[in-house]
Amino acid sequence: MTEIIILVGLAFVFGSILIFLNTKLHSVDKEKEAILKQLPGYNCGACGFGSCAGMVEAILKEKESYLKCRPMRKDKQEELKQYLENKKM
Ligand code: SF4
Repeated sequence: MTEIIILVGLAFVFGSILIFLNTKLHSVDKEKEAILKQLPGYNCGACGFGSCAGMVEAILKEKESYLKCRPMRKDKQEELKQYLENKKM
């Protein structure tokens, strides 16, 4: 009986860890997607990060990286700035 309780306990703990990690990974993906949608999407590489997806990775490391996107209009820059400030990354 004790073994069953231990196994159920372990299953619960590992299940909880997997659910936590899955939730965490999906929230990062959603965050990346949300930022990517706010970029011009030209994939021109003018920012020096190779693509818009590269820019997203750069923004996650350093917020002000979005300033290197040359084709982005000023109003869109301001929107992204507000978004990033509200996210408190
Ligand atoms: S400069 Fe802007 S549009 Fe061009 S790849 Fe970089 S983020 Fe995308």
